[in-house]
Amino acid sequence: MRDPDSELNELDQTGLRRQLRRIDSPQGVEITLTGSGKFLNFSSNDYLGLANHPANRESLKRNIDRYGTGSGASRLVCGSQSPHHELEEKLAALKNAEAALTFGSGFATATGAIPALCEKSDIVILDKLCHASLIDGARLSGAAMRVFPHNDLEKLSSHLSWATDKINADGRILVITESIFSMDGDRAPLKEICELVTPSPALLLVDEAHAFGVIGPQGRGLAAELGLEQQIDLQMGTFSKAAGLSGGYLCGSRNMIDLLVNKARSFIYSTAPPPSLVATISDCLDLIAGSEGDEMRSRLWTNIRAFDRESTSAIVPFIIGENEPALAASQSLQETGYLVPAIRYPTVPRGTARLRITFSAAHQPNQVSRLKQAIATIA
Ligand SMILES: *Cc1c(COP(=O)(O)O)cnc(C)c1O
Repeated sequence: MRDPDSELNELDQTGLRRQLRRIDSPQGVEITLTGSGKFLNFSSNDYLGLANHPANRESLKRNIDRYGTGSGASRLVCGSQSPHHELEEKLAALKNAEAALTFGSGFATATGAIPALCEKSDIVILDKLCHASLIDGARLSGAAMRVFPHNDLEKLSSHLSWATDKINADGRILVITESIFSMDGDRAPLKEICELVTPSPALLLVDEAHAFGVIGPQGRGLAAELGLEQQIDLQMGTFSKAAGLSGGYLCGSRNMIDLLVNKARSFIYSTAPPPSLVATISDCLDLIAGSEGDEMRSRLWTNIRAFDRESTSAIVPFIIGENEPALAASQSLQETGYLVPAIRYPTVPRGTARLRITFSAAHQPNQVSRLKQAIATIA
C-alpha cells in the first residue's frame, strides 16, 4: 500500500509541497496572515475589489432577510427560485446569448457541462494551458482529446480537420479555450479561433473566468470586446473572481442550456446555490455593467499599466523556472510585506514556476509602484 508519508516527502524534496496560509482578515488588498501580521496582497482574483465591498455586503444582508440562507434542494427538485431565474435572464441579456445557466462554481460548470455535451464517440480539442476544470471536464466526458500547443492556430486547424474527417454523422466536436489564460495572463487569438471554428462543424466553448468584469464594454469579456459573442456557442465564466462572490455560469442557445439542465450532473445532483447569494450576484452584475463598474475598471487598468505597460490582463506572470528559486522569491517578497505566492507544477508546466502577480481596482497606485521596486530588488 502507498504510504502518505512517502508521498508527502517526495513533494517536500521536489519543492512541490503545498501548505495552506491562514488569513485572519476579510479579503482585500491588505490582509492579515495568522501569526505574521499584515501584507499587501497581489495574489487575489478579486480584480475589482468587490469581495468585501459595501455594495456586495449590503446586498447580501438584504437578500438574506428576503430569501433566507439555503436553497433546500437541487434546482430540479424545489431549489429553482426566482433569483436563479432572474440572474440567468440578466446574464443571457448581458452576454447577448439566448439563455444562461448558473452552477455552484466555475469548476462545477466545466465538469458538468463538458460531459453533458460530449460522450465517448465525440472529440474535444483544447488549448494546452486550459484550466484544470476544463481538462477534467473533457476527461470525464470520455471523448477523444486532442491538445494544441498554447494559442497555436495551425495545430488547432489541423486537429479540426482531423476531427471533421473522423467524427460520426451524429457526433460532436467541441473546441475549448480561455479568453485570458489564468496563469500567464495572455489572451487567446479569439477572432482567428472563431474564423477556424465557425465554418467547421465544431462547437466553441470559451472560458472568460479572468476576463469577465475586467475586459470589454461593461466588463462583458473579451468576446464582447471583439464582437464575437454570436460566434461563441458557449460562453463560460465565474462569479468567484471579479464579482467577488461565488458561482459559475454558461451562456448559449436555449436548446444547449435545456440540454445542460437535463444532463449536467454537477447541476442536477448538487443543491442549488443559496437564493440570497444568487440575488446578490444579480445586483453585482448591475454594478459591474454600470458606471461604478466602469470606474473600477479604469482604476484597475491604471494599476496594471503602472506595473507593466504591455500587459493585456490583470495577471502578470514573473517566470522564474525552478521551484526552489520561485519559492525563495515569494518568501523574500513576503519578508518585505508583499503576498505574491509562487505558482508551481502541476498548476503550471514543470520548469515554469513563477510569481503570479494580480492587480485590483482597490490597490493604491503607490502600492503598485512599491511592489515594482520590491520585485526589481529581488530580480
Ligand atoms: C478559477 C477558474 C475556474 C473555476 O472557477 P471557480 O468559480 O473558482 O470554481 C474555471 N476556469 C478558469 C479559467 C479559472 O481560472
